[in-house]
Amino acid sequence: MCLFCKIVKKEIPSNIILENDDFLAFHDINPKAPVHILAIPKVHVDSFNEIDPQMMSKMSAFIQDIAKECKIEKSGYRVITNIGENGGQEVAHLHFHVLGGAKLKWGHFSDADPEGHF
Ligand code: 5GP
Ligand code: ZN
Repeated sequence: MCLFCKIVKKEIPSNIILENDDFLAFHDINPKAPVHILAIPKVHVDSFNEIDPQMMSKMSAFIQDIAKECKIEKSGYRVITNIGENGGQEVAHLHFHVLGGAKLKWGHFSDADPEGHF
């Protein structure tokens, strides 16, 4: 069973902020902003590649609820999902990072030549 499935089953403790039948939201263990929440489906989905449109629409509403719960919906925030090796995904259970609470920087993503890919 993967790490986040264990968090869903409460076999591993987490600091939960919001939960419904389908999704769970909890604090990231290594926060990269004053607010850093992870939103996950309770069923195991490997990554964004496998999410179906019905789940994605419910996930969108859930993420909006997280922003309200954390009182960052007006000040602004960022939603990120890393996919696969190049995307930097470390936990192979779909999760959306919800980051806010301060002005976020726009990062340096790659040293690779942007001309090279296509
Ligand atoms: P990824 O790199 O896969 O997009 O993000 C994985 C995230 O999960 C990281 O930000 C990491 O800090 C977080 N994380 C890893 N293990 C745990 C854990 O056991 N508990 C919590 N709450 N977060 C975790
Ligand atoms: Zn899982």
